[in-house]
Amino acid sequence: MQALAPLELRLTGNRRSVLAVLEQSSRPLTVEEVVSGSGVPTSTAYRNLAELVEAGVVVRVSGVGGGDRHELAEQFSQHHHHHLVCTDCGMVTDFDPSPQLEKLIDREVDALLATSGFEITHHVFDVRGRCRDCVAG
Ligand SMILES: [Zn+2]
Ligand SMILES: [Zn+2]
Repeated sequence: MQALAPLELRLTGNRRSVLAVLEQSSRPLTVEEVVSGSGVPTSTAYRNLAELVEAGVVVRVSGVGGGDRHELAEQFSQHHHHHLVCTDCGMVTDFDPSPQLEKLIDREVDALLATSGFEITHHVFDVRGRCRDCVAG
């Protein structure tokens, strides 16, 4: 996490624990999950997450109900990915697009917006449906 240094965001023990839980997770986490994974008290976890979001280190991922979820910003995780969002239980999981899909999205979006004057920095691409548990349930 050397990349954090320029932000001059002091990494207290609690912030460090919160970041470690997010860093080790393969999906965005609710505040409750951050609390249970890090042992940081709930009110502190809310504050730390808000500070980290403010600093651009953590991003909020909107699910479907069940509160916001959080993950490391892609510039820090170095992991470009997309999300599967379950519209029944709100679970959000990560999936890695194939290089072909990435190229296709970028190429098509570039072509569509070529004359719009819009400067593209990145894309967000979520897929909605029902997770395995909800389909089985
Ligand atoms: Zn589900
Ligand atoms: Zn992508």
